[in-house]
Amino acid sequence: MDKLTPTQLIYQAWQKTVQPLPYDNGKQKIDCYFADPMDKCVPVKAETHCTICGAPITHGVPVKKALSSNYTNWDQHKAPSSKYVGPACYFTIKLNTKYHRMALDRYSFCATTDHLSILNRWQVRDYLIKPPKPPFVLVCTVSQQKHLALHSRISYQQSRFYCQFENQTLLIDPTFKPLVNFMEALYSIGISKQQLAQGKLNYAKLKDYDFTGVKQIMIKLANYVQRPDYELAVHVATQIKEVDALSYLNLTPRVKAQPERL
Ligand SMILES: [Zn+2]
Repeated sequence: MDKLTPTQLIYQAWQKTVQPLPYDNGKQKIDCYFADPMDKCVPVKAETHCTICGAPITHGVPVKKALSSNYTNWDQHKAPSSKYVGPACYFTIKLNTKYHRMALDRYSFCATTDHLSILNRWQVRDYLIKPPKPPFVLVCTVSQQKHLALHSRISYQQSRFYCQFENQTLLIDPTFKPLVNFMEALYSIGISKQQLAQGKLNYAKLKDYDFTGVKQIMIKLANYVQRPDYELAVHVATQIKEVDALSYLNLTPRVKAQPERL
């Protein structure tokens, strides 16, 4: 059998997962019902390919029906002359108008060969640190409106794998964990995500600590901020206990100089 395309893996994962798919956004639990793409598919002639991913298809949705006027990925189509979008690609962009206008675009997710998991950002964090058994597709959205699945790649290894983070296809390796842990420690001593995103520190939060420790943090941050996966690490960083953060960062309170006695 030919290798699946990323959207075929995602679609197959959804087909094998019990509906509705649970999603916990941290405040409430939501049931996700995505629309079955076959409802809109028609049989197509032999040797037809999906215009988007280029996979051979037996059924498809006419391009005019499948892709809205806001669609902008035309230049990346693998079979530009085809007039059909296959069920797998269509599944990832289709809106379920019957159920709160729900679409996969709105969510971060991980698809394995037999399961589709809808993820909040803290679950994405855990997947980045402990990826599932390959093959899998991991997507992390911030905008919740881009067709990220169409840009995603299948990962075949746990030691080096892809995460589609908005428009970037990032390669993640085990060095991501110390990066996240560092971000989480800074975040947990009061450096905001906005400051972290800019690679900045809030010195008001650091003034009471020993300067050697602070200097080490500045050097480490300056190195980390160059990394392509830096922004993703800031995005998924979670709060930890302040005492653990201080210990991780090796920060000790500055010893105040004692006034000399006369
Ligand atoms: Zn396709």
